[in-house]
Amino acid sequence: METLKVKAGNVTIGGDCPIVVQTMCNTHTSDVEASVAQCVRLHEAGAQLIRLTVPSLAQVDSLKEIKAMLRARGIDTPLVADVHFSSEIAIAAAEVVEKVRINPGNFHKDHDKAREQFAKLVEVCKANGTAIRIGLNHGSLGERITNLYGNTPLAMKEAVMEWLQMCIENDFYNVVVSLKASNTFVMVEAYRLLAMQMQETGIVFPLHLGVTEAGNGDGGRIKSAAGISALLSEGIGNTVRVSLTEDPACEIPVAQYLADRYGHRLHSSMVSLTLEGKKAVATYQAPSRERLLLDFACDFGKRLLDKELDEVELRGTFEEEDGTQTVLDGSQYAEYLVDELMQAARRRFYRPEYIACPGCGRTMYNLESTFNEVKRRTSHLKGMVIAVMGCIVNGPGEMADADWGYVGEGNGKVSIYKGKSPVLRHVPENEAIDRLLELIESN
Ligand code: SF4
Repeated sequence: METLKVKAGNVTIGGDCPIVVQTMCNTHTSDVEASVAQCVRLHEAGAQLIRLTVPSLAQVDSLKEIKAMLRARGIDTPLVADVHFSSEIAIAAAEVVEKVRINPGNFHKDHDKAREQFAKLVEVCKANGTAIRIGLNHGSLGERITNLYGNTPLAMKEAVMEWLQMCIENDFYNVVVSLKASNTFVMVEAYRLLAMQMQETGIVFPLHLGVTEAGNGDGGRIKSAAGISALLSEGIGNTVRVSLTEDPACEIPVAQYLADRYGHRLHSSMVSLTLEGKKAVATYQAPSRERLLLDFACDFGKRLLDKELDEVELRGTFEEEDGTQTVLDGSQYAEYLVDELMQAARRRFYRPEYIACPGCGRTMYNLESTFNEVKRRTSHLKGMVIAVMGCIVNGPGEMADADWGYVGEGNGKVSIYKGKSPVLRHVPENEAIDRLLELIESN
């Protein structure tokens, strides 16, 4: 899909440029040393854009320091400020970094005031050559929009179109758009609707793709690859962030794989495909476990999401790290990968569905180990949607349609949510998983 070109420092997104790989720091931005060290690692791992959270005006000064220290080391990777709940912070950060991400769902409470503040932000961006990402998430759609369109992909598209119209009215086109959701079906539909509408209007802004709160491990990778590849295979998408509840450096190889594959620099390791009605039998000769997982998710994610297929059988081999070949035919591992992909495409739920944020500078506890423990202790709750979120500021709004939520408050305390409502507050972290399980059982 031909789009406008957006410049963020020395990186161009859209037009005929290759897909840009990006990620986000999970350090506290005010911890300048740690943030610089992580940015260096992410740059070395291949990140072309690095985002940092900016929860208060004080962190705008930290951003300045981080940027100066990176530039002094010869690292010119553009930085992106991630801003929620404060148009003032967005305006201040736009003078410092190459790109600012705003969330239209919480840019400003009052819609008229939001328009006014957005015009100010655009002026600062024009003066400094800063790009903007209009980064809308399914979980944080504003009340005005959900009252009009429900909590749907259409609502996401309509909400973002209002903001793109504001960009056009302000004669500002250095804009990237995202419409992320943890639910792959919602995410894919929202981006498709937006791509179609932008093409009809004739002004096509580049798209930043991501499945938000995808979790970690194989499940997080398969879910991200299934959702993102469904769009990239249709020519939709110009930059990719794979959100994993892991060290952000682990996101880069997955995002790079997607950029390479849909930039036609890499091919699937599938060697044969047989169709029996709506069942596919696929045979692979994969060079590694990771490649098998990603190839499989990309080859069949879209077809399962779009219900072109109902079943997939996985055969063939993959190479282990020690060079031995593992046979997939009839194996438990093949069955497990099929189950994971069916769940990622929302066709069959064989375990709980987890919504876990990747963590950022707002994270209030050891998210990765807590998430793994929640997974271990809730693995029997098939079909239930359980969220594990890093902060109380954004977490409750972002966990979309979760049945239960574990949300970090800070100071060693946790809030437990049932749907959108907190049912227990200030629970000590070391008791919180027990309390969550008791609540689930008693309900
Ligand atoms: S929900 Fe997670 S990723 Fe989002 S702002 Fe909070 S800690 Fe960061």
